Amino acid sequence: MYDAIVVGARCAGASAALLLARQGRRVLLVDRMKFPSDTMSTLYIHPPGIALLARWGVLDAVAASGCPPLETVGYDVAGLRLTVPTPSTPYARVAYAPRRQVLDHLLVGAAVAAGADFAERTSLREVIWRDGRAAGVRIRTPEGLESVPAKLVIGADGRQSRLAALVDAPFRKQDELATCVYYSCWKNVEADFGYHERPDSWIVRIPTHDGVTVVATYFPQDQFAQIRLDPLAAHLETIKQNAPDLHDRLAGAERVERLVGTGRQQNYFRRMNGPGWALAGDAAHHLDSITARGITNALTQAQLLSDALAGQDLDDAGGLDARLARFAEESYGTLGEPYKTTLELARLRLTDSRAALLRAVARSPELTRRYFAMIAGVIDRSEFFTPELAELLPAAARWTAPAEPAEPAEPAGPAGPERGEVTTTPR
Ligand SMILES: Cc1cc2nc3c(=O)[nH]c(=O)nc-3n(C[C@H](O)[C@H](O)[C@H](O)COP(=O)(O)OP(=O)(O)OC[C@H]3O[C@@H](n4cnc5c(N)ncnc54)[C@H](O)[C@@H]3O)c2cc1C
Repeated sequence: MYDAIVVGARCAGASAALLLARQGRRVLLVDRMKFPSDTMSTLYIHPPGIALLARWGVLDAVAASGCPPLETVGYDVAGLRLTVPTPSTPYARVAYAPRRQVLDHLLVGAAVAAGADFAERTSLREVIWRDGRAAGVRIRTPEGLESVPAKLVIGADGRQSRLAALVDAPFRKQDELATCVYYSCWKNVEADFGYHERPDSWIVRIPTHDGVTVVATYFPQDQFAQIRLDPLAAHLETIKQNAPDLHDRLAGAERVERLVGTGRQQNYFRRMNGPGWALAGDAAHHLDSITARGITNALTQAQLLSDALAGQDLDDAGGLDARLARFAEESYGTLGEPYKTTLELARLRLTDSRAALLRAVARSPELTRRYFAMIAGVIDRSEFFTPELAELLPAAARWTAPAEPAEPAEPAGPAGPERGEVTTTPR
């Protein structure tokens, strides 16, 4: 009998397994992939996520893996070129963008070192129910099907979460698809971390391991059908048009690896808890990757889940469910702000009022600091959009006006296949 089975062994699942194992729980962590394993991501982790890695003792290994620290943020928008220090927290001064096959593997290693059992190439098939509660799982291992009882089943199995489907976790909030994204990897390019924003376009350059720079290009979702016909051409053309300096730097560089992209970056919150089960990471909540919040959110949720369960007797079903409910409420509370900021930016509307706001912000070092800190999740929106700011800059009030209610992009229920996901081969 395990205390907890965690399905999915990346930033949400491996972190949850690590923290629960450190509480002295018996934990089984499973993933259908063989590790180390890569996944779709542009890799950037904001300082609040880095602070958690530091707190858990994993950051030193990330730094030792050769991943460069990202000490500044560049922003090229509305005639402005800003470079600011990475917004810091008391526990993290810089950001990192580690390759996922490195980061996720380090987290799994830390979970195993803390006492968790890890089974790779092992898939969740069914939930075992007893008296209306999740009481374990049926898994397919390389040796065959097995039943594993557990007091708690945690789904950290990503956007297409099988656990969410099996427990019938409804969507609590869904918003329409906002962007589509394609990214490429380049060697021998001098690049620091930064964004280039233009109307209908958002481009990010992200240095990672081995001298590689990831370049991600975001387009409005309504251009996806057209762009996916020749995504590489669209990717290179938007860099040329909207980030000409970066385009010049790429001219002498070597493109490595495949172009990768997706038009299916859903925006949702699912119900995250039920009798004997919980969801964390993308399984619980997903948002457009434009603000690079997914990894930090997943790490945050692992910490919230571990905090909620601290000291709880898992044999006390009522007590356990109350703690899971607390975890879910704290998650909705914590993740609501980045969700709102992300959806605003993901509309890719560089309106006159937003451009005016950014120009005004750029004139004040303090507002600039607070703006970037808000985007990084270091401060809350309320600490940036103060009444004083709205009085000083009416544009701030207009920019933050609530979005029109969005129609759900797809019906609630088990998610379908990744219809829009496309990869192409290197040139
Ligand atoms: C294009 C793109 C770019 C992104 N860029 C960034 C970025 O720069 N910064 C950032 O913070 N976030 C980024 N994100 C988001 C980030 O990658 C995710 O939020 C993050 O990976 C979520 O981690 P997770 O552990 O919840 O889920 P995942 O990383 O999706 O991991 C889920 C795991 O569950 C396993 N699994 C699934 N089903 C089963 C099953 N039935 N049985 C067993 N195992 C199973 C999978 O094999 C997988 O290993 C990006 C996302 C996209 C799509």
